[in-house]
Amino acid sequence: MKIAFLGLGIMGRAMAENLLAAGHELVVWNRTPERCEPLVEKGATRVATPAAAVEATDLCIAMLADPEAACDVVFAEDGVLETMAPGKSYIDMSTVDSQTAEVIAYEIETAGGRFLEAPVSGSKKPAEDGTLVILAAGDKSLYAEALPLFEILGKKHLYLGAVGKAAAMKLLVNMTMGGMMTLLCEALALGKRCELSAEDILEVFSAGAIANPMFAMKGPQIAANQHSTNFPLKHMQKDMRLAIALGDEMHQPLQSVATANELFKRAVAEDCGELDFSAVARTIGA
Ligand code: NAP
Repeated sequence: MKIAFLGLGIMGRAMAENLLAAGHELVVWNRTPERCEPLVEKGATRVATPAAAVEATDLCIAMLADPEAACDVVFAEDGVLETMAPGKSYIDMSTVDSQTAEVIAYEIETAGGRFLEAPVSGSKKPAEDGTLVILAAGDKSLYAEALPLFEILGKKHLYLGAVGKAAAMKLLVNMTMGGMMTLLCEALALGKRCELSAEDILEVFSAGAIANPMFAMKGPQIAANQHSTNFPLKHMQKDMRLAIALGDEMHQPLQSVATANELFKRAVAEDCGELDFSAVARTIGA
């Protein structure tokens, strides 16, 4: 199948490589064109604009930073909307808020195309291994047609209903992960003051009811003050911000998320935005 892929960052590059490796013909675009090179070397075709990517294929997948990026790529000059037409489909896998997904869906469908939102749970390694959890909502016929691709990209996929539901689900996942990360860092920081070793703390945590894969993976990295980027901290702060906005809209208090968000905001202000989200540990003193 001939597929266009827009956005070759940490996640997009790994996902596009898996589609290519599975034998699909790939057309790629990235705002910073050099980031297309590794894919081109493996057989993908680079195009100059999102509009050209949509023109060249019937199915276009996007994996972009945030709501602003998702909207730029669709609505700006030479964007997706310029060549969207009946018979064409657009799957946006970026983590955005429900309103952004709804606005994009409306414009794509008004132009005659089909739209599916499909944000993912899972980070760089699951993207490389094809073991993401794909949260989809929107056009059900497109979901059914995309399943073989989701099988390549992920280990699990769910259809959640109308556009906006998958964005909301994804924000629930990440606000929980952000809150858990700040708690882990606070425990490690307090433990340090009590002259308890991080190794011992993590061993105790891993043996009881609070054991979880994230603590097991990130704990040793925090202890080593090593934060090479799998999930950029700036994106986690964006997700906390979007979750809080969703809480405002739904009149749902999110006290712990709001507190955790302040720590991520401070970490961004302290130049940790490009590091892994575990680098909030530096702000907390873990
Ligand atoms: P990333 O490495 O920062 O890549 C972001 C991508 O968006 C790049 O291709 C970047 O292009 C592009 N971009 C940013 N602003 C743009 C704009 N205004 N116009 C056009 N393109 C723009 O991020 P990532 O980690 O791959 O994450 C991508 C999405 O997946 C985000 O929504 C993130 O929240 C979500 N996500 C990430 C993870 C993870 O663990 N990393 C896990 C699940 C979900 P340039 O190369 O030109 O900067």
